[in-house]
Amino acid sequence: MKQVSFSQLMTYVRCPEHWLFRYKLGIRRQPRKVFKHGFALHETLQYHFEQKKEDGRGLKLAEAQEFFVHSFGNALEDYKQELAEARPYLTREYLSKEKHVRIEDMIDTGLKGLETYFQHLNPFIHPDLIEEPFTFQVSPNLEVVGRIDMTDTGGVIHELKTTRVSPNKQDIRSDAQISIYQVGYKSITGKAPRGISKDYIVLSKNNSRIVRFKVVRPFLDKKTVARNITAIMEAARGNIFYCMHPAESWICSKEWCSYYTLHQELKKLGLHAFLEKYSIPLALP
Ligand code: SF4
Repeated sequence: MKQVSFSQLMTYVRCPEHWLFRYKLGIRRQPRKVFKHGFALHETLQYHFEQKKEDGRGLKLAEAQEFFVHSFGNALEDYKQELAEARPYLTREYLSKEKHVRIEDMIDTGLKGLETYFQHLNPFIHPDLIEEPFTFQVSPNLEVVGRIDMTDTGGVIHELKTTRVSPNKQDIRSDAQISIYQVGYKSITGKAPRGISKDYIVLSKNNSRIVRFKVVRPFLDKKTVARNITAIMEAARGNIFYCMHPAESWICSKEWCSYYTLHQELKKLGLHAFLEKYSIPLALP
């Protein structure tokens, strides 16, 4: 049985070209301090949820903050190594942007973000499943594997994110990530979730806050999810890779995307010549 991971699928949803560089060329290259920061916050909250599930209380704010600083420090050690390995491929602009991201500011916003979480959201969340693995089949020879961040004892799936800009109001019913989580949840518990909640900690030096988007009794069409996943897999096998941001975009920029030099090369050569150059089979296997 062939497997595809949840994160692979989300990579294609967000940027098909990224899939080409990451999974066909096998280039893992995203050394960014901000990712390490997000990872450290995620790890801190995950540990807190595990403790809270066990003893009903979890970490105190000061303990969570200490855990975060420690975890971020470790992640930054990895970052240094990743940056050294990737340096020859990164643009000057990318490196300059990274250099100007101040660690002290990141620690500060992380600590404030945790404070906001503990004040405004923590009392209402009673964790049940934490980083629970799931598997479900979408066709006779393909299954999806992944993990659900967290669900609460009321059967609500929570997707906790940190962001620096206030998120737009969005319909999370049509969110690809949440749809896959819903199918995953059912495969673990045998039941549909009672609700879904996308919880954002908006990180800011002076005004950290919580923004939530919730859906009660969500409806999910599993067949459509399976059809979309199959379509992504067929597209990737058939070398359908394109830039999601054809207009001038801050995402496809020298400063932001670590694949920017490859992106430019692809634009210049065209997909056919690019695949040939990197010895990627042109025809479907
Ligand atoms: S440059 Fe743009 S299209 Fe290319 S991988 Fe980066 S984000 Fe995707």
